[in-house]
Amino acid sequence: MPITIITTPQHTLHTNAHHPEQAARIDAIMATLRTNPIAGATLQAARSADLRTIQAVHTPDYVAWLQQRCARITRLSDLSADTYITPDSVTAARMAAGAACDAIDAMQAGQRAFALGRPPGHHATPGEAMGFCFFNNIAIATRYAQQHHRLQRIAIVDFDIHHGNGTQDAFYGDADVLFISSHSAPLYPFSGNREQMGHGAGHGTTLNIPMQRLSDDSAYIAAYQQVVIPALTRFQPDCLLISAGYDAHWDDPVGNCALSVTGYSQLMQLLIAAAQQLCADKIVAILEGGYSQRALAASVHATLCQLANHPLMPDSLGQRPGNSHGADQSIAWLRAHHPLLHDTKEIFS
Ligand SMILES: [Zn+2]
Repeated sequence: MPITIITTPQHTLHTNAHHPEQAARIDAIMATLRTNPIAGATLQAARSADLRTIQAVHTPDYVAWLQQRCARITRLSDLSADTYITPDSVTAARMAAGAACDAIDAMQAGQRAFALGRPPGHHATPGEAMGFCFFNNIAIATRYAQQHHRLQRIAIVDFDIHHGNGTQDAFYGDADVLFISSHSAPLYPFSGNREQMGHGAGHGTTLNIPMQRLSDDSAYIAAYQQVVIPALTRFQPDCLLISAGYDAHWDDPVGNCALSVTGYSQLMQLLIAAAQQLCADKIVAILEGGYSQRALAASVHATLCQLANHPLMPDSLGQRPGNSHGADQSIAWLRAHHPLLHDTKEIFS
């Protein structure tokens, strides 16, 4: 299966060697790809997203504020307690958003694609940078797919260990965009309760799956088999976009779960099978977090192998004992209460 990997050297314009979200993350992924090439994978240089594309999600005031903020500084600075900024952060952020849109174009050309951009995006709200994120790459790609490719119903699955609060905010009232997030709770940004299900016309198109700490491969696979896949099947998307964060790996210094590379690979296998069944194999992954560079590189490589139908490398990091029941409470509650999982009436026709 031919796949497209989109990246850019300009991600290095935004980096801080003393911060977990740094340029070496992508370097580690690319080094693994060089050592273990994937047959059928093409590397493509990302474009820079134009401001109109970005403003389909972010307010013009916020975009202008961020540009001015970068223009005024001369060196690495703190934007907030957790997020740094450089004079060229906005350039890197526009490339990461552009990579996500390029992945949509590749998908529409019949390929599976992975946008390997940074900074990540899923914490950025329409009007605020937070949690290492400036522009919400997957939200921008979603609007781009709707506006440039006439795809209407888009499903986003976010398996980063943190709740994708910015993505949720962007589509909370939107009946055409299903946002599903599995995330450790309680953990930053402390949103994503299972009771948050969307509002107005969008009621039922937000689905949060809080996971207990140390949730392992079995817990995640149970959540995906019993909640994520049935919800996707009910929603009937035109394409599936993955917020691919790898900080739920047991080796991650920021996260507190116990997924393995094998577990991440199995989640991807379930999602690819869903895309094949539901939406003509239209599936794209967009990089979010993942701060153990060795776990990130191995997990992204495994994801790419799944996308390319290429044999997996052995999981050299292996598994660690975890909580195999870490999703049980959420699964039971969501199957009893979420409109996509328990209503029988046709709410999305
Ligand atoms: Zn994360």
